[in-house]
Amino acid sequence: MKFAITSKGDSRSNTLMHKMRTYLLDFDLEYDEDQPDICISVGGDGTLLYAFHRYSSRLDKTAFIGVHTGHLGFYADWVPEEIEKLVIAVAKTPYQVIEYPLLEVIIRYQHGGRETRYLALNESTVKSVEGTLVMDVEIRGQHFERFRGDGLCVSTPSGSTAYNKALGGAILHPSLRAIQVAEMASINNRVFRTVGSPLILPDHHTCTLKPVNRPDFQVTVDHLTLLHKDVKSIQFRVADEKIRFARFRPFPFWKRVHDSFISDSD
Ligand code: NAP
Repeated sequence: MKFAITSKGDSRSNTLMHKMRTYLLDFDLEYDEDQPDICISVGGDGTLLYAFHRYSSRLDKTAFIGVHTGHLGFYADWVPEEIEKLVIAVAKTPYQVIEYPLLEVIIRYQHGGRETRYLALNESTVKSVEGTLVMDVEIRGQHFERFRGDGLCVSTPSGSTAYNKALGGAILHPSLRAIQVAEMASINNRVFRTVGSPLILPDHHTCTLKPVNRPDFQVTVDHLTLLHKDVKSIQFRVADEKIRFARFRPFPFWKRVHDSFISDSD
């Protein structure tokens, strides 16, 4: 089996990365940074986002494991004290794979029929480059509302505990193939109106945003921020691809939610 390890880059994560690499090589596993069967990310959830984007073209071949060197994470759920146990499990045990849904973002441009496609593990947000974001929101090809406000955030179930949560969105279990659309400070008064609640769409529905006047937007995909000009539409839906995590023990999602947001003492 071939493995790769990515690190957050701080000294604690780097030390752990080197230790795990040595242990795994001792077990005769092969280190392959380009085509790993398993990618171990050492750091936090943010580190796993980077690892995901690095290997996003081979999601059917690479499974992920997250070790956290900070606080408990949603993707990074192994602690440094467990790495010997983890290394033995990786080297000796056939692992179980669990899959989480991803978000597909397709940006189409006004000229030349061009489009770009992204996959997000957490979410994609759309903001205006300057001033209030004004966009028409279509759901399943039907006009839904004209949004005015700071921006819109479309998240995956596993990303629902990140930016989406800070926007008042619901936490979704990652076994649900769905995406969630959450508003950022919408303008609501007697003239302008939006639904005001987060929307959860199933995997056969699309949400499409269309510019009303200015066609330039700041679009984020997880930790990446991109400026898009001459935009005709931005379409979101549940992606056909999934992220695969190698699991060696149960760690239920609701326990992770409890331990992260309520208390990890009981
Ligand atoms: P960052 O600003 O350095 O860190 C964002 C924080 O979000 C970190 O504490 C990270 O945990 C945590 N996080 C990432 N994914 C998560 C998840 N699925 N559930 C719960 N917490 C999660 O940025 P970054 O490390 O490059 O990560 C980019 C992410 O930041 C974006 O995808 C977005 O979700 C999030 N973000 C959140 C807000 C907000 O809450 N107001 C605003 C902007 C962006 P670790 O410390 O374990 O890495």
